[in-house]
Amino acid sequence: MKHLPLPPGAGDGVILRQCGKLGWGGRRSLWLAAAARYHKVGGNPWRIKPAGFTGADATALSGLYDSRGSSGPIARIRRPATPFQSCPMCGSLGGRSLDHALPRSLFPEFSILHENLVPACTMCNSDEKGRTYRGVRRPDRFIHPYYDRWASRALWRIQFEPDLDMLQFTPVSLPTLAHRRRRIVDFHVQKLLGKEWRDSVRREWGALPAKLRRRVGASPNVVAMRDELKIRLQDAIDCYGINCWDAGFLRGVLANPAVVTELILRIHALPA
Ligand SMILES: [Zn+2]
Repeated sequence: MKHLPLPPGAGDGVILRQCGKLGWGGRRSLWLAAAARYHKVGGNPWRIKPAGFTGADATALSGLYDSRGSSGPIARIRRPATPFQSCPMCGSLGGRSLDHALPRSLFPEFSILHENLVPACTMCNSDEKGRTYRGVRRPDRFIHPYYDRWASRALWRIQFEPDLDMLQFTPVSLPTLAHRRRRIVDFHVQKLLGKEWRDSVRREWGALPAKLRRRVGASPNVVAMRDELKIRLQDAIDCYGINCWDAGFLRGVLANPAVVTELILRIHALPA
């Protein structure tokens, strides 16, 4: 969840070079038109249809990623010289991979278009997301890091259910965002943050009272607790980015007075 500049190698050069190769020139005009549409609508899956490559054409286009995906310019999108603070798609600290914003199974013409290749962690690329690339209703879709400039702001937090012993929670968009963006962020976080994220929230929640006690003492008041949580939030943002998992977690804690009160009770209940 982060805005990224377009990667090196974005643009028509990829297509023009490939179409200069023997047997590829016939795909050129349709392929360039599809790429132009992609740029125009910023990869928005509600505003673009598959170009219509079928059969051997589709297989050849899709297969380009198999031969090119792990080396050269495409590998550098995955692993830039300056490492990402956290996964640009989900905010985890997980391993590096690449995701096709529009899946190459449906859009083989974008299989090696750099604009369609988004750095993501291995969890983002897992089975949980599968071939999902948009929701069932407009505007539900994933954030596109190259085109959604507004994604550089704080976007989400955890929402805790009232019974904190049960510890049920959901990732949600921040209420300060515009309605349409909230729909996109809600779709994005609720599709991408899966089991690994839930496990990490449970670990963080379990360890938090002891961590806080070391900073604010055994009998903190609400003001001291909030001040410490805000410092922890800023530390997380500085180190891992404004939409990293820790930042979403701590924004959710700070947004809910009942959660802060519960943490004070849990600090009191810790063994001396
Ligand atoms: Zn991720």
